[in-house]
Amino acid sequence: MTTTTPSFTYRAQTDKATKTWHLGAAEKDNVCFCGTRLLVAGDERKIAARIPADERQFETSDDLSRVTCGACRRNRAWSQANGIATAPLAPASAATATGQAKPPSTRKRPSAATRAAAKAAGAEH
Ligand SMILES: [Zn+2]
Repeated sequence: MTTTTPSFTYRAQTDKATKTWHLGAAEKDNVCFCGTRLLVAGDERKIAARIPADERQFETSDDLSRVTCGACRRNRAWSQANGIATAPLAPASAATATGQAKPPSTRKRPSAATRAAAKAAGAEH
């Protein structure tokens, strides 16, 4: 993790295999914020085999209200995409007084396990 917050061009995205709209970003291509990797042209994963080759592509929308993936809607990117304050529970009056305290980056990304699971499911051989 870097100390700066990456700025993403958030978007909703889905594909024929998932049928769920996920939160993604133009900068992340077909990788959603929950870890799901959407279909891309030439995709050779097992999940892609069920989809006709010419339909192996994902669809995007600027309408974030279309996102239906629970994991995507729970994570930090969702809050940022929707302008919801993600200020950490700040107990510290001292921190705000100095104005130098950084928000603690202890927030766990929920995507790691999800990504691993998706990878395992998609990469069975
Ligand atoms: Zn998702």
